[in-house]
Amino acid sequence: MRLVLCLADKKEWKVDDFNSLARQEINLRRSRLVCIACGGKAYFRRSGRNTRPSFWARHIAGCKVVTPTWSAFRYLQ
Ligand SMILES: [Zn+2]
Repeated sequence: MRLVLCLADKKEWKVDDFNSLARQEINLRRSRLVCIACGGKAYFRRSGRNTRPSFWARHIAGCKVVTPTWSAFRYLQ
């Protein structure tokens, strides 16, 4: 996922913006992230040697983000 909602600051975060926060700022928020569509718990994955930073979430069944017919680009994985 490229976008999550942070309950700590009520803000939608893009993964690149989130990743550029200071470590302390990330730690304040990373346990309060949820899917913007279903509210399922979301997680931040730091970049690794061969991977870019990303968000992932435990979506609630029927969540729009994981429904193939959903077309809005902002929800694309
Ligand atoms: Zn979801």
